[in-house]
Order: sequence, then structure tokens, then C-alpha cells
Amino acid sequence: MATYRRHAYVELWTNRYEGFPLSDLFGVNPSGPQRRIVSVLVPAPVETAYSYRLPAGVEAPPGSIVEVPLGPRKVIGVVWDPPEQAGKPVSDNRLREIERVFDAPPLQPSMRRFVDWIGSYYLMPRGMIMRMVLRAPEALEPEPRIRGLRQIGVEPERMTPARKRVIDLTRDGLGWSRSGLAASAAVSSSVIDGLVAQGTLEEVWLEPGKSIDIPDPDHTASALNEDQSAAADVLTSRVKAAAFSVALIDGVTGSGKTDVYFEAVAEALRIGRQALVLLPEIALTGQFLDRFTARFGARPAEWHSEVTPKNRARVWRGVSTGDVRVVVGARSALFLPFRDLGLIVIDEEHDGAYKQEEGVNYHARDMAVVRARLGGFPVALASATPSIETRVNADLGRYARLILPNRASGAELPAIEAVDLRRHLPERGKFLSPPLLSAIQQTISNGEQTLLFLNRRGYAPLTLCRTCGHRFQCPDCSTWLVEHRFRGVLTCHHCGHTERRPDFCPTCGEVDSLIACGPGIERIAEEVADAFPEAHRIILSSDLHGGAARMKEELAAIARGEADIIIGTQLVAKGHNFPKLTLVGVVDADLGLAHGDPRAAEKTFQLLQQVTGRAGRFMNTRGAARGLLQTYAPGHPVMKAIVAGDREAFYASEIEDRRIVGLPPFGRLAGVIISADDRETAQAYARSLALAAPKADKIQVLGPTDAPLAVVRGRHRFRLLVKSERTVDIQTYIRDWLALADKVRGSLRIQIDIDPQSFL
Ligand code: ADP
Ligand code: ZN
Repeated sequence: MATYRRHAYVELWTNRYEGFPLSDLFGVNPSGPQRRIVSVLVPAPVETAYSYRLPAGVEAPPGSIVEVPLGPRKVIGVVWDPPEQAGKPVSDNRLREIERVFDAPPLQPSMRRFVDWIGSYYLMPRGMIMRMVLRAPEALEPEPRIRGLRQIGVEPERMTPARKRVIDLTRDGLGWSRSGLAASAAVSSSVIDGLVAQGTLEEVWLEPGKSIDIPDPDHTASALNEDQSAAADVLTSRVKAAAFSVALIDGVTGSGKTDVYFEAVAEALRIGRQALVLLPEIALTGQFLDRFTARFGARPAEWHSEVTPKNRARVWRGVSTGDVRVVVGARSALFLPFRDLGLIVIDEEHDGAYKQEEGVNYHARDMAVVRARLGGFPVALASATPSIETRVNADLGRYARLILPNRASGAELPAIEAVDLRRHLPERGKFLSPPLLSAIQQTISNGEQTLLFLNRRGYAPLTLCRTCGHRFQCPDCSTWLVEHRFRGVLTCHHCGHTERRPDFCPTCGEVDSLIACGPGIERIAEEVADAFPEAHRIILSSDLHGGAARMKEELAAIARGEADIIIGTQLVAKGHNFPKLTLVGVVDADLGLAHGDPRAAEKTFQLLQQVTGRAGRFMNTRGAARGLLQTYAPGHPVMKAIVAGDREAFYASEIEDRRIVGLPPFGRLAGVIISADDRETAQAYARSLALAAPKADKIQVLGPTDAPLAVVRGRHRFRLLVKSERTVDIQTYIRDWLALADKVRGSLRIQIDIDPQSFL
């Protein structure tokens, strides 16, 4: 039996690159200027860096960003190190040449090691990681200058009100774009042409992208309470030490964790290094950006899906030159080419949004720790409900734990009660129980806000025919179609397939026979409208018409107190401060406990704690805030811990359960998903793969089984699960195993998911 022994996480991170020469770590070209062959890692699904010839007189040390021919195309790549083909003599004249070396700062050595590390940890070709790094190719070309206008002080012969507006606006002599000026002065462009002809305005070239705001660490002093100051002191001294470390800011909802880590960001700025703050729903957090701006006097650079390609290029370039000092972003910001990163903050570190499930399956929180290890700087993780993994690392002393036990405003944490649905039945066809309805009524009379939370979009998760039993299923996935009544459609939440909801059953033809089963938030909204017709309601869900911009507006409106009842999915559970919110009703607290996910209890605990933690964050409201959990299982350990306000009890029992069965972080898991266009092919391959699994100590290969989502987008899926002890090198095991397996042909695909979060 083979043994795949493995060091503890942190040890492994230290040791993995022992093999690299020091010169490599410090970016010195090992063979000096004579070496005319370089390896280039290209953004394609390849593991090895390819060799290219360097034209005479051109230098491209490791990290240089270059353009090279690849097959018939030209691609952008990065000069890698050490030369991968060093052992093998390659005849020079077979090699193709580097076509261009971009005038851009080289990718830092720690960033190159980071790419190597992720590739080998997640069993992904390094070129795929490179693709994530080179996300903004526009950044490599200088931004085109634009023609603009400025005033040179000559008065026009004839003054008109329109001309006067333009002259007043441009009096400071600064440059304007033509369209910006016309819009700001509310004039047509002929007015501007007239002023140019008169010699009042002249055309100039404007320097683009020079408007990067520099955050000032001392713009506003934060008033921190004692617990916050103690935590901030630990963080700032770690930033100053400029050495790898991880700290967990473990503070209850509303304890002011943000202000604490802002102090760490400020310290990074003071010592001249850059900082990265990751947030799970950055595109929606206008409130966060305002707080940052108030603290630092400048907006941070943003990096997420809503940022335009042009701004993305600016951020990428600014990060690589060091001009951009602080980035606030989604998980992919971890792959930005920082010149001198000195701190990463992961807010809501427990959040599932940090795990990418497509392409490269990486976990941004875990990889932030790796990046900090390679770059020699601290990480701060913040959460009111830390993940079990992080909590165990803190308990073992690997991470420092900084505790904020109280709300910063002095307000009490909400009192949480379970509403036992077996005793307090909602009316037939309804979903809100009498105790919840009367609590809403009370809250409205107090002039305060209620949040009703249900983690399910649409109107109803299943539509069936009461005459023949026909159920509406997705043609390409093994899922029911979800009714979206506002849009009048049935839609698949996995592939997006959408059809109109018919008036009759497609199987038996019966008219008016279709019934909606179960609630989605649209249905709750309808029930609320019936029960409280006078109340102002806002629905918040990711499929809201109008996208992120609209959601941002709605969130701001709620924060201003402009709604009596908010009906929302988990979007509202994340990081918002709603001063008038005092009641949170969870429509179906059991929802997340149903499926066989080993993290179901943890995720439910986190979600319920976070969403109820939106209530009563400030002292401006009457009495104590409340959270009501509608449940059929009030005796479940998760419900009991939340109702008792005893999170320590939850962590203790959950950690013990994991330890006993050897689940993460006490053991390691890897999912292997095999899919194909037809069920037989996928199943046969999955079986042969299971048979090919080498016998090894402390490693089990479980399955294959039909994936719970057996068909997605027409692909039939089977799952294997690799489970090992913590000390095992599961990656090497899987690599060896796949090398023995039959070649993947035709429509077959294998997807490896190291440290899986989803088991669907
Ligand atoms: P969380 O710990 O949930 O992330 P936040 O950082 O969002 O909490 O802070 C919650 C609220 O408390 C914010 O409105 C913040 O401005 C306020 N706050 C933070 N620190 C203090 C303090 N020391 N005194 C008073 N209010 C504070
Ligand atoms: Zn589908």
C-alpha cells in the first residue's frame, strides 16, 4: 500500500518550494543575460510553460509580460522561472520568438509562486490560473488619450446664457471632455464649437486615468471601544511586522468589525504597502464604500463583475504599478498583480461565495492565506459566525482569535424564538404563522421594519397538475421548474431554461388545474400584501428586474427606513446595516437542513445567525429586537443553540461531530464529478475510475453514485468522493490515480473539486 503522507497545512505551504533556488524567489535571472531561451506560461489549459526564443537585444526577466505566438494565434503570457526545459536540449531554431515585451511591471515572484501553488493544490493546469491573472488584457496597452477642451480666457464677442454657463464651468482652466462639458452646462455641442471658434476654449489632449484617489490613513480618526482597540492593536502590529500571520476577528453581528480592520488597512497604507479587502457581495455594498470613503477620504478601487472593462483595466494597471493602494473586491481580486501587497482582509470569511464552483474550483479564503504566506504579510478574517475550519485553526493557536463580544452601538443582540409550526399552523395555503403575523403587526405599529427571509427565489419551487399529477421539469436538468409569477414564466435555476406558464396541463389538457406547491419569496410577498395592504413592501432577490444597480438602490432605501416589510433571499443577510429593522422572521428555518451536505448544520447556523443579526443593531428603536424562526424541528441542535444564544455550544458539538467522523478540518475531501452526454457513458467511466483507484493507507474512494443533481444542462453526472486523513497528500494520490485511469474521450469530463463545499 502506498502512503501519501502530508505535512500540516502551514508546514506544507512553507516547504513546497524548498526546491526552488533562492535566486528564483528573489527574481534574479539565474543564468544571466546570455540566456536567450525563456519559458512562458500562457493563459490556456496547459500545465507547462513553453519555450520561446528571445530576439537579440531584448530582455525579458522572469515575470515579464510578453506577447507570443501560440499556434495560429498571438497570446499574452508571462515569462516563467526556472526555465522548464532547462534539462532538455532544444534546438534553437525550432523555437518561435517572443514578439513583444510589454512595458508593464513584471509579475512579482510571490505571485508567480502563488500561480504554481494553486495549480498544484487544485490539480488545475497552471495556464488556467494564468487566465485568471491576465483578466484585463486591455491594461497592458496605454489608455488612449482623449481630446478635451479648456478655457483660455478670451471672452466671446457675444455672450448668451448658454455660453455663460460654459464659461463659468471652465473658469478654473482644467480640462473637460466635450460630451462631459456639454452635459454639465446643458448646452448643445454647437455652443461649444462656437466658443472654440471664438478662441474662448481651446482643444487639448487630456491625460487619461490620472484620477486615482489616494486613501489617507489619517483622514478621520476612528472612535473605537476597548475591545475594538485591543483587536486593532494586534492587527496593526502584525501589518507593521510585515510577516505572515492569520488573525480571526470573531465579533457578534454589529460589533464593529469593519472599523477594526480599517485600522489594519490604514497601517498598511502608512508603511507604504497595498491592501486588499474581499467581500462576498461587493457589487451591492454601497454602504461599505461610503464607510470606506468617510474613513479614508477617498474611494477604494473596486473589482467585481459590475466594473466596466475600462475601469477594470485601470485597476489592474494601477495595482501592478502600485498607484492603486486599496482594492475592495470579489474573490477574483485575489489574482490581481499587486506590486507590494501588505494585507488581505476577508470579511464574512465563512461565506460560501468565496468558493468558485466553475472553471478553477478554488476557495478564496484559503488561497488568501496561501498568498499571504508566499508574500510575507498578515491576513485578517472577520465573521460573526466563523467557519468550522477557521474556528478550529483558532482553537489550535494557528490563528489569533480577536473577540468582540458586544455590539458597538451598545444595543442588545436580538432575542430569538422558535415558532413551532406543528402548533402554530399557518392558514391553509399560507406560510406565515399567527405568532409571526402578530409580531409584524406590532412592528408596523412601532414604526419599525420587518425583514422576512426565505432563501428561495420565485413564486413556487414546484408546479403540478392536480388532475393528472404532471410536474413541470427542466428538459435539460433533473430539477423542477420554478414559477416566477411576476414574469409569468417557469424557469430552471440551474441552466436558465425558461418557458411560459401555460393555462392548461400539457399532459392531460385540463384547464385551470395547475397548482403551485411550496413558497418562494414572490409568494410570501403576495401573502404579505393580503395581510398588510397598507404596508410599504420591498422584495429583494438576485433576479430582481434592473440588476445590481436596482438592488443597490433598494438597499439604500431600506437603510433610510423607506419600507415597512422587506421580503428577501440571502442577499439581505450579508453585511448591511438597516437602522430601523427590529424584527426578522425566517419563513422556513429548516430549509437548509434537508439535504445530505456535511456542512448543512454549519451553513444553517451561519445563515440564521447572520439574518437575525440584521435586527436591532442600533439603540434608536423601542425595546429589544426579535428574531422568529418558523420551524418543524425546534429540537434540532442548530435551532436550540440559536434560540439559547449559545454559539459556543454549537461550535463545540459541531466540531466534535466532525472530529468523530473525520470530516474537514479533521480529514480531507475531494469530489470527483464525471459527466457525459449520456448516462451509460458517464456511469461506465465512473465505475472504471473507481476500480482503478490505488489502494492506499488512510484514503477511501467512495462511490460512484448518481449526483444529487443527476442531470445538468443535458449532462449526466456521477460523483466519487475521496476521503482521507488530514495528514495525507490527497493531491498526489489523485494525480497518480488519474494517470492510471482510461483516457477521457468524447463527451466525458472529469472535474476535481478539492475541499468541496457543494455536494450536488
Ligand atoms: P459588523 O461587526 O457586523 O461588521 P459593523 O462594522 O458594520 O459591524 O458596525 C456596525 C455599526 O456600528 C456601524 O454602523 C458602525 O458605524 C457602528 N460602530 C462601529 N464601531 C463603533 C463604535 N466604537 N461606537 C459606536 N458605533 C460604532
Ligand atoms: Zn435546467
